[in-house]
Amino acid sequence: MQSIENLKFLTPEEARKIAVNFGTPVFVYTRKGIEKSCDEALAFPNAFGLTVRFAMKANPGRTVLEILKKKGIHIDASSEHEVQRAILAGFEPSDILLTSQQLARSLKELIPQGVQFNACSLRQLEEFGKNFPGKEVSVRFNPGLGSGATKKTDVGGKTSSFGIWHEEIGKVKEIVTKYGLKLVRVHTHIGSGSDPEVWKAVAHYTLEIAAQFPDCRTVNLGGGFKVGRMIGEKTTDPQVIGKPVKELFENYAKEKGIQLKMEIEPGSFLMVNNGAIISQVDDIVLTGDGGYTFVKLDMGMDVNTRPALYAAKHPLIVISQKETSASKTGEFVYVGHCCESGDLITQEEGGGPQLRTTETPEIGDLVVMEGTGAYCSSMSTKNYNSYPETPEVLIDLDGSPKLVRKKQSLEQVLQNEVLVSLG
Ligand SMILES: *Cc1c(COP(=O)(O)O)cnc(C)c1O
Repeated sequence: MQSIENLKFLTPEEARKIAVNFGTPVFVYTRKGIEKSCDEALAFPNAFGLTVRFAMKANPGRTVLEILKKKGIHIDASSEHEVQRAILAGFEPSDILLTSQQLARSLKELIPQGVQFNACSLRQLEEFGKNFPGKEVSVRFNPGLGSGATKKTDVGGKTSSFGIWHEEIGKVKEIVTKYGLKLVRVHTHIGSGSDPEVWKAVAHYTLEIAAQFPDCRTVNLGGGFKVGRMIGEKTTDPQVIGKPVKELFENYAKEKGIQLKMEIEPGSFLMVNNGAIISQVDDIVLTGDGGYTFVKLDMGMDVNTRPALYAAKHPLIVISQKETSASKTGEFVYVGHCCESGDLITQEEGGGPQLRTTETPEIGDLVVMEGTGAYCSSMSTKNYNSYPETPEVLIDLDGSPKLVRKKQSLEQVLQNEVLVSLG
């Protein structure tokens, strides 16, 4: 029998109140929790200074960005659009590092503003050199190994297209020399695993790469602090993975006389368990002998795509609408509201329904999906089946829930359609 999951920051009363006042589905974030996670990240062991960059693709909402900014967190942007969004939220361009799979089309506008550029391929480095000879640049390397909770979240090694393959370092040097660039930062990002040995190994390789560039003063180890969502899943302890990494930096200083600054780029770590989705049971259907009890929620892959995309597991907590409920448990398959067979909230890796033990839900009960602060609101298959974008609420430090994003209207879903005369 699986363990029944618990609410992480809401109380059942709070969840009921928010459902009444803001409707369902609704994202809820805790400011207190976000700030605590910031403090933990900022305490990452380091020898000669630390910059924490939020991987804003995890949750680029304006309020989230402003909370992080107040805590002194900088930005890891995955696209030029994220750069613009961060600037609009009040970040200094120089506090933003652009690490993008696609070469930014607005590079010529962004760099003069002070935005820092992390070249992720030889082509990107060449383009940067052509446009900005003599300038400081940073390079993302693929150190040849990675660590991810699933194959799909592994971003290092031969199967990953992220960064410049470590064996191509000679070509990097050629381009750097050709354009008189100053390679001041070496960047790696290994994926979202929690293994301290992998962290140490990657830090070691990254420092070996850094040693080959005399101008390098900063080493960025990327994100990838695994965060457990379900009971029994491990959460990375920054103190544990950071200690050996700090020693490597100290040894580097002893050997080379260079005190490297460290950067980390947590996305998940700052947000995952500081966000939840409150939804409601819309329907319950049975599929006969040997079949299942399907619990249909009023949310789905248009609100959180992770179960459909990765068979990701999120805690589901049933909150009865009745005052006195005899808490009985059972095994159910939770499904989303999209007309799509893949919209299974509890699903096996590779697809197909998976049973989940929860309290027995009834139509109208609330179901809180936990662990949805990162890569949910930002990564949803928004507007599929024309469901509007989900509203968002922040529980502020005084405990009051505040609307921080309105529910999308039908007009907003349609606003860019252009009507043409079809004769
Ligand atoms: C996504 C990403 C991160 C954050 O990864 P998490 O697993 O959410 O911590 C950090 N750095 C880069 C370059 C990324 O693309």
